[in-house]
Amino acid sequence: MKKTILLIHTGGTISMAMSAEGAVMPNKENPLMQESNKLDSLATIIEIEAFNLPSPHITPKEMLQLRNLIVEQTTAQQIDGVVITHGTDTLEETAYFLELTTNLAIPIVLTGAMRSSNELGADGIYNLVEAVRVAVDEEARDKGVLVVMNDEVHLAVNTTKTSTSSVNTFQSPQYGPIGLITKSRILFHHAPIRRQYVEVNHLSKRVAMLKVYAGMEEDLLDVVLACKYEGVVLEGLGQGNVPPSVVKGIESLIQRNIPVVLVSRCFNGIAEGVYGYMGGGKMLEDLGAIFATGINGQKARLKLLIGLNTTGKPLNLKDFFL
Ligand code: ASP
Repeated sequence: MKKTILLIHTGGTISMAMSAEGAVMPNKENPLMQESNKLDSLATIIEIEAFNLPSPHITPKEMLQLRNLIVEQTTAQQIDGVVITHGTDTLEETAYFLELTTNLAIPIVLTGAMRSSNELGADGIYNLVEAVRVAVDEEARDKGVLVVMNDEVHLAVNTTKTSTSSVNTFQSPQYGPIGLITKSRILFHHAPIRRQYVEVNHLSKRVAMLKVYAGMEEDLLDVVLACKYEGVVLEGLGQGNVPPSVVKGIESLIQRNIPVVLVSRCFNGIAEGVYGYMGGGKMLEDLGAIFATGINGQKARLKLLIGLNTTGKPLNLKDFFL
């Protein structure tokens, strides 16, 4: 029997076209709405246009709306999988947000395109067909939120946009894809060994993120306090180190109960407290900084945002980030 797939459009290049002047823009009519007949042989499609936004316009507010829409729809009717079309710039963030805030066994698959609908070699419809093929595959169940592009299946937790323009932009540094898509089948070769779920229904607390660099000056961390952010993620150097100039700022945030989460600027390896010198990760850990294991800065920021806004009992953030 054909499976039922909930197809949700949110915008992005996959829903855009290039104008005569050479600007890639959203259309009034989403070109994807004309294409669902290409999916008919694969599944029964229920199509919803949630937004038509370039993905730099997507915020956690839209991510939460999307999460609520998925929960509502999958509770109200029999849905065997969800496919979401999304701009690639922030696709990994929406995918990770859904990973942490949904706990469904059915596949949730995000896809996008690097070339808009009327460009030569447009990859949108191809990726959409592949995403639906993955979403109807029995083996895609219980694998967490997935990202499908360019014949590969990636975990939302691991994947990141690595190229500004190439169709193979989504890679999972350190881990690789969890599956390959051939013309006839989906070949999964890895599976996640754990998933986290957090209950959240509002996002009132705010989290900032700063990239650390050689010679960073101390006043930048004051901004976190002055602008009343409730948490901050620092994309630190190497294993999670910072210049001595910012240590005082970190200490004063922690003393005010503003969590400071450290990730690494490196896209391979795990950040952890190793160095005991002034600004070294071990010293920061002793001050109370929290290390995020195995996720990049933008995902750690969402994780902290979700962790601080949970409706369940307050989380032990240190354990949550392990
Ligand atoms: N700037 C576009 C967006 O994220 C890029 C894309 O969709 O590929 O909306």
